[in-house]
Amino acid sequence: MGWEWKEDKNLRFLTIPGWSQMGVITAFSTRNDGISDDPYSSLNLAFHVADDPVKVLENRKVFLAGLGQPLEKCVAAQQVHGVNVISVSERDLGRGMSELESAIPECDGMVTQDNIGLMGFFADCVPLYFYHPQINMVGLAHAGWKGTASNIVTKIMEKITAAGGSAKDCFAAIGPCIGSCCYEIGEDVAQIFREKFHNVIFQTSSGKYRLDLVKANLELFLKEGILPENISIANLCTSCQSELFYSYRREGITGRMAAFITMRKGVI
Ligand SMILES: [Zn+2]
Repeated sequence: MGWEWKEDKNLRFLTIPGWSQMGVITAFSTRNDGISDDPYSSLNLAFHVADDPVKVLENRKVFLAGLGQPLEKCVAAQQVHGVNVISVSERDLGRGMSELESAIPECDGMVTQDNIGLMGFFADCVPLYFYHPQINMVGLAHAGWKGTASNIVTKIMEKITAAGGSAKDCFAAIGPCIGSCCYEIGEDVAQIFREKFHNVIFQTSSGKYRLDLVKANLELFLKEGILPENISIANLCTSCQSELFYSYRREGITGRMAAFITMRKGVI
């Protein structure tokens, strides 16, 4: 089950049609189709990057309207490159959606069994999506190198197994993120990944190191027992594709794309 582009007159985004057929809406936005000005032009969906919050809110409405989702039925968290995973329920509806302050604090992973849209923000870090059809649970995680090295995948899977779901029935996906083509790291980070993962560090001709975060998270999926045929990888580098995506590594001060997942009905 692969990622595909979907577009109407107002919005272009990535989704996994195979998951839509199972009743789960997934999306990853681009930097286009919004109203923010440089350096956030144009569909910046995050409040925490010092963009005009009025424009961010308008951008979120454009994005969610394209998915057929009401803003007040979604939840967002304040991501801190940690491994804290929160079970979100109806009482959290709307948190973090109209302003930063109400977002779930210090949280890089969310799961829910309710009809809630989970939203996370990305510019190079890895968006991880989860769906378990038997227990009706979806999950979303934000994994940079720290979250990957600290194994946020396992923290999500702990929530899924605690609710009675088995890894072999779980679907998992990786959205666009910085690729090993662009993600240069220092010796200290390289050493951490050399110890914890297999063949995810590459040495360049100039003696520098590059890290493959997709491969590292894929390794974690498989280690947890998720089946290869249930894993969907976008294989798009946010740093290479400057027309499509924001990249923190490439641009520094910039906007954020959104990753989105829900079991609610929508247009996809
Ligand atoms: Zn690249």
